[in-house]
Amino acid sequence: MDMDPEVKGAVKFHGHLCFGLAVGIAATRLAMERLATGKAVGEEVVAIAENSSCAVDAIQFLAGTTLGRGNLIVNDWGKHAYTFARRDDGRAVRLSLRYEAFKDIHDREKRMEKILSSRGEEVFNIRDVKIELPPEAEVVSSIQCSSCKEPVMRTRTRTVEGEVYCIPCYEKVYIQPSG
Ligand SMILES: [Zn+2]
Ligand SMILES: [Zn+2]
Repeated sequence: MDMDPEVKGAVKFHGHLCFGLAVGIAATRLAMERLATGKAVGEEVVAIAENSSCAVDAIQFLAGTTLGRGNLIVNDWGKHAYTFARRDDGRAVRLSLRYEAFKDIHDREKRMEKILSSRGEEVFNIRDVKIELPPEAEVVSSIQCSSCKEPVMRTRTRTVEGEVYCIPCYEKVYIQPSG
């Protein structure tokens, strides 16, 4: 399969070429074209993925919407559906993989070739949508957890009887010292 530099880059970032990555590549390219936007350098584009599969890596790599930057939302609903939105004018588009487009193609290579070569209504249902955008990330100062003594974002604390705790201490979660 011929791969252009963008696809090669996404494969390198993700670690392998697979159907999920190919879906992410196709969805991202199509959405960016529709929204007339380039790769995000700040928070100007927001992406919402309705699964937490390989496709999410393609979105991060190609659209510049990343978990770390706060402009990627992952809803683990197991659906190949992706919404992209522009912050400046609120335009948003949702693409969902068409069930009929792949139900009779069982060969892995053929599935990937189809998704990478046809990027349009043939493989996705595409709709303009209205979404409520998440607030832009803000810098929040840290305070000290009264149990583990580690710094924690003020907005992510729980207070019990006047004492401030980080969430893992408050919920007594699984990360415990091993020694
Ligand atoms: Zn993969
Ligand atoms: Zn703590």
